Amino acid sequence: MNAFEIAPRGLLIGGSWRDRASGGLHVIRAPYDGRVVGQVPFAGASEVREAMDSAVAAFARGTLTPTQRSAILRSAAARVRDRADELARLLALESGKPMAEARGEVGRTATVLEEAAEEARRITGQMVAVDAVPGSEDRIAFTIRAPLGVVGAITPFNGPLLSPAHKVGSAIAAGNAVLLKPASATPLSALELAAALVEAGLPADFLQVVVGSGNEIGDALVDDPRLAMISFTGSTAVGRRIRERLGLRRATLELGGNAPLIVHDDADIEAAARAAVAGAFGYAGQVCISVQRILVQERVRSRFEAAFLPLVEALRVGDPLDESTDVGPMLSEAKALEAEASIEAAVRVGARRLTQPRREGALLWPTVLADADMTLPVVCQEAFAPVVNLHSYGDFDEAIDLANSTAYGLQAGIFTSSLGLALDAARRLQFGGVIVNDTSRYRVDRMPYGGTKSSGLGKEGPRYAIEEMTEERLVVLKGVPA
Ligand code: NAP
Repeated sequence: MNAFEIAPRGLLIGGSWRDRASGGLHVIRAPYDGRVVGQVPFAGASEVREAMDSAVAAFARGTLTPTQRSAILRSAAARVRDRADELARLLALESGKPMAEARGEVGRTATVLEEAAEEARRITGQMVAVDAVPGSEDRIAFTIRAPLGVVGAITPFNGPLLSPAHKVGSAIAAGNAVLLKPASATPLSALELAAALVEAGLPADFLQVVVGSGNEIGDALVDDPRLAMISFTGSTAVGRRIRERLGLRRATLELGGNAPLIVHDDADIEAAARAAVAGAFGYAGQVCISVQRILVQERVRSRFEAAFLPLVEALRVGDPLDESTDVGPMLSEAKALEAEASIEAAVRVGARRLTQPRREGALLWPTVLADADMTLPVVCQEAFAPVVNLHSYGDFDEAIDLANSTAYGLQAGIFTSSLGLALDAARRLQFGGVIVNDTSRYRVDRMPYGGTKSSGLGKEGPRYAIEEMTEERLVVLKGVPA
């Protein structure tokens, strides 16, 4: 075995793996202890262009049949399942995600590929009754869904395997060629996904993978007019920039969040407290649908705190490879320092800290803040850290107003035993998803998933992503006997 946790793959360009590129070799280190996990060459604008040339040529050669696409995706899913332990360890190492969550991500990755395999075989259009229009009786019309061409996929650090699988799986299922740029901090899992697809029979030029700093190669990728669409997951700031540069070309933008959890006085308070712990502190809060604000009806606030705080204090913080760890490191010490500073700033102006402050390197211990001013960054911006804010509300209308008082709108959760209130909340909460009797963290991958407002545009989940990644084309046949 070499010094790396995993054999280096290199970039996938023009149908073959490259172990050198113009941006030089970059070492990927584990956020927890800085050990070397692997190395990867970084692409520059010239490799992005080459990858695009090859993807365009692959698509022009003709697309794979639905049966071929489905078989490739299914076989890639099986390869992911066969290597589940190895991939989970790689994911935990490069991202700092605790093993239990890493295993969950690997399983979901295989499931997404299987879902995409199923959807590849049911891409259909619809009949359009033009013959019901006077003068059109001799016509018949229907739509087909045509692949777009080359789809660009840009993914964030926090879903190193699953986010690329959503985008690449759906794009391949839809009949497109794909150019993937994974996050430069956690690119190794994405390269393993690409290897699984190629080994499963995907003609290698249908998938190009370029790793490199988004700041340096992002514009070269986005600005290439041959790119038909971008499926982007990442921060709102980068998403806005991409949307502005794309002009009329399509984009699916899965952006930041600031999820609320409403705990009403008629709810199962202990169940809400248990769910809130996992919802707020899973993967050290570095999840777009992490619970960031818990809004508790004032009559049950002390009961909620009594159930919630001991569970938070009991979370084990440490090495993501240790099976007993609940909360691992943040992506870097710099990110942990930034989060710590925003917590301290809130405490300085009156927020009450209900947990013991502690940070060691990239490890930041779970923090609960009470009654912080709603305009503070740690409350109203995306924290993306193991910190959650507790607030009280009086009546239900106030809870809805507080929940909606954010620029974001990805998912929201509400605990209540009233079906009427749950449905009322579902209608009034301005979020892409409203989860009743669980938190915003609930997601299975066949759901239509995507946000409103600053949380983005378009939906993910293979069935919905395939719609985004194909265009509806109308076909009208004239001369049909009336
Ligand atoms: P990020 O900094 O926005 O980066 C996301 C991706 O964009 C990375 O691959 C990055 O490359 C690339 N990038 C950076 N600048 C670019 C540019 N100018 N042009 C094109 N691409 C560029 O986000 P992150 O820190 O990795 O991930 C955390 C964010 O993602 C959070 O805001 C979180 O809420 C969001 N997220 C949203 C969802 C969702 O489904 N809504 C899911 C997961 C995460 P580099 O890595 O090289 O910088």
